[in-house]
Amino acid sequence: MRPDILNPLFAETESLEGVGPKLKKPLEKLGLTRIRDLLYHLPERFVVRRAVKDLDDAHVGEQVVVALDVVEHRASRSQRGPYRVLASDAKGNICALTYFGRASYTAKKQLPVGARRWVAGRLDQYDQMLQIVHPDHVSETSDAAMGQMVEPIYRLSEGLTQPRVASLVEQSLARAPDLPEWIEPGTFAREGWPSWREAIAAAHKGENAKARDRLAYDELFANALALMIVRESNRKRRGQPLQGDGHLRDKLQLPFPLTGAQRRSIDEITGDMAQPTPMLRLLQGDVGAGKTVVALESMLAAVEAGAQAAMLAPTELLARQHFETLRAMAKPTGVEIALLTGRDKGRARESILMGLLDGSIDIVVGTHAIFQESVSYRNLGLVVIDEQHRFGVSQRLMLSQKGKVTPHTLAMTATPIPRTLVLANHGEMEVSRLDELPPGRQAIDTRVLPMDRIGDLVAAIGRHVATGQQAYWVCPMVRGSESESDDLAAAEARYAGLKEHFGDDVVLVHGQLAPELKDAAMARFAAGEAKVLVATTVIEVGVDVPNATLMVIEQAERFGLAQLHQLRGRVGRGSEKSTCLLLRSGELSETGKKRLELMKSSQDGFLLAEEDLKLRGGGELLGTRQSGEEGFSIASLEQVSKFIDMANADAKMLVEQQGGLSNPERGEAARVVLYLLERDWGVQTLRGG
Ligand code: ADP
Ligand code: MG
Repeated sequence: MRPDILNPLFAETESLEGVGPKLKKPLEKLGLTRIRDLLYHLPERFVVRRAVKDLDDAHVGEQVVVALDVVEHRASRSQRGPYRVLASDAKGNICALTYFGRASYTAKKQLPVGARRWVAGRLDQYDQMLQIVHPDHVSETSDAAMGQMVEPIYRLSEGLTQPRVASLVEQSLARAPDLPEWIEPGTFAREGWPSWREAIAAAHKGENAKARDRLAYDELFANALALMIVRESNRKRRGQPLQGDGHLRDKLQLPFPLTGAQRRSIDEITGDMAQPTPMLRLLQGDVGAGKTVVALESMLAAVEAGAQAAMLAPTELLARQHFETLRAMAKPTGVEIALLTGRDKGRARESILMGLLDGSIDIVVGTHAIFQESVSYRNLGLVVIDEQHRFGVSQRLMLSQKGKVTPHTLAMTATPIPRTLVLANHGEMEVSRLDELPPGRQAIDTRVLPMDRIGDLVAAIGRHVATGQQAYWVCPMVRGSESESDDLAAAEARYAGLKEHFGDDVVLVHGQLAPELKDAAMARFAAGEAKVLVATTVIEVGVDVPNATLMVIEQAERFGLAQLHQLRGRVGRGSEKSTCLLLRSGELSETGKKRLELMKSSQDGFLLAEEDLKLRGGGELLGTRQSGEEGFSIASLEQVSKFIDMANADAKMLVEQQGGLSNPERGEAARVVLYLLERDWGVQTLRGG
C-alpha cells in the first residue's frame, strides 16, 4: 500500500490547472504522468542572466535583461526576411529585436512604439548593430523581469514550451508535502543536506549542489534498499536444485573450444543451480565475449535435470536472433526450442502455450510475452535475461516469482560495468565475468577524423559497400537540445544526405520509429538487403550482423567511453577486418581528446569502463547531465561513485540492524522513499518483502 502522505504526488498531471487531453500527450511523451514525475523532471541547465543598466555595460554573447524603449518597427522587404523592432537603451544605444516567421505577430503585440519594455535574451551583433534574436522574455515591468534572472531549461517534447513546463512544475511544488526523513540521521547531519521538500524546490530554482546531491542520494539509497530487500526475500524463497548429468551438453558439437572464462562461468552457474536457494547471477561479458553459448549450456543443464528454461530478450528482433542461433547450436541435442513474442496470436500461440504447459517444449525464447499471466510452465527451472540492464528491478523480480518454486535467474549484460556500479545496480546478484574474448578476434582499426572530411568519408563508404560489406552510421543524441525532435532531425538529415548517394541501400532506425518499422529496417539490414544503417543510439543493444565491418560515429566526443565501446562492438564480428571511424566536430576538450585516444588504444571494455568513470570523476563539466546511463534517472555517474558506498552502508544498516521497514522510526520513511522513487520496483518489492 502506498503511504497516504504520497497521494497528492501520485495524482495525475491532469489534476493540474491547464492540463487537458491536449497537453497530456506531450507530457506523457517525456514520461510525465503524475505530479511526482514533474517534480523529478529536473532542469537540464539554467540560463543565468545579468541585469544591465544599458548596453555599454553588456558584452556580445551575454545573457542579459535590459530596459529598452521601442522606437520603430521594420518589416523586411523579402517575405522570408527578418522582422526588426528597433529599440533604444537609457543611453540612446540602438538594439534590434529580431524575429523570424510567425514570431513577428507576437512582436507587434508586445512591442508598441513608444513603450518601455524589459527584454531578456542573448545579446548578439549583426552588421555592426546590436541585436537580440527572438528575445526569451518581454516584460512590462522590471519586477516581472527580475523573476527571470535565473531560468531553468527543461527537456521538452513537441507541444510544450519552457514557460508551460515551468508553470506546471511550480504548481506541483506547491503540492509537495513535508515527508518524514529517511536519510540516516548521522549522514544527514554530516552532509548538511536540505530536507526533501527544500531540495526538490531548490533543484528547480538554480544550481544547487547540495540539493542535487541529496536527491541523487535518495535515489541510490532507495535502490540499495530495494535490492537489499529483494536479496533478503530471495534468500527465504524455495528454489529447485537442478543438477544436470551432462547427457545433453555432451551431444553439443560446438565449432570451437570454450574459452577459460566461459568454462569458469558455466561452472559457477551450474554450481548455483544445484543449490536449493534460487540463483541470482549476473553474467557480464563484453560484446562478442560469447555469452550466448554460456546461456545455452546453462539452459541445457536445467533441461537435463528435468526442468524448462526461458530466455528473455529486450526486443523482438533479438529474440528471433537468439532463437535461430540456439536452435542451430542445440540441434544435435534434440531439445525442443520455441519462440514466443507478442506478435504470435491465435493457433500458433495456443500451441506454444500448450507445449510449455505440458512440458513438450524445453526451452522458450521470447520477449516479455513469455512471462504474461496467461503463460504457464510445467516446470520452469531457469530464466535467462539478456541485456538485463534494459529491464527494471520489478520485472526481474516478476520473472523470478513465476511458478511455485522460484526459478534460478541468470542475467546477462554486455555493458562492462565498473565494479562500483555493479554493486549499485545489481547488488542483489552474484557476478560472473567473461573477461576473455574468444581467440582470433581481429582488433578493430579505430581512427579519429575531423567532421569536415565527410565528403571523403562518403566516397570511402561507397567503396566499402561496393565490396559487398555493410556499414553503420551513428548520429549522436543531442543532449540538452530543445526537444527530442532535434536528435531525430540530425539523424534524418544524415539519412537524407546518404540516400542521395546510396538510394535504397540506406535505412534509418531511431527510437521514435514504430517497433514494426524499426524491426523491418533492422531485418533488411541483417539480411544484407540494406547496406548502410543510419541510426541514433538505438542500435547499441545486441544486433549481430557479421558482414557489417564499418562503424561511423558522428560527433564521437559527445559519447561516453563505455558507450563508444558498445557501439564499436557492433563491428568486428566476422572474419573481415573492421574499421571504426570516430568523427569529431570542432576542437576537443582535454578530456575529449583523452577519451578518443583511449578508444584508439584499447578494446578492453572493462578497462574503458573504469577509465570512463575516472575521467568523469575528474570533474569534467559536461554541460548537460549524463544521467540515466546506468539506469539511474537522477544520480549522475559522478554522484553514483561519490555516494554509492554510503547509500549501501546506510541501507544495509537499516535492513540488517534496525529491522528495515518495520523499524518504528525510519521504517515508514523508508517505505515512503521506496514508493516515491519507485522506478518500478516499489510495489513489487514491498509485496514480496
Ligand atoms: P555476446 O557475448 O556478445 O552475446 P555471442 O554469444 O553472440 O557474444 O558470441 C559472439 C560470437 O563469438 C558468436 O559468433 C559465437 O559463435 C562466437 N563464439 C562464442 N564463443 C566462442 C569461442 N569460445 N571461440 C570462438 N568463437 C566463439
Ligand atoms: Mg549477445
